[in-house]
Amino acid sequence: MKTTFDPNKATMVCMPVSIKDATIVAGSIKEECCKCETKVWLTPESNKMREEKDLQIVCWDCVAKQEMEDPRLNPPSEGQLREILRTLADQN
Ligand SMILES: [Zn+2]
Repeated sequence: MKTTFDPNKATMVCMPVSIKDATIVAGSIKEECCKCETKVWLTPESNKMREEKDLQIVCWDCVAKQEMEDPRLNPPSEGQLREILRTLADQN
């Protein structure tokens, strides 16, 4: 089923599958960003949350773009995302 981004709906930010050297949570499934259709990882916990709260999935890249378009939103910055990524990489 094709999903379309709805600005009024709550979103969940997911890590793109294309990110290398990232820690993938066991049992993660591939889903699609509802904005750019990039493949993203959805962890089992995220998947559960998505079903419970009817969240839409957006990739990091789209969140970074959205932040520039709408300064009222305050998702993680690109720097913060890199920081998270480094932290995850260090756990290996
Ligand atoms: Zn995207």
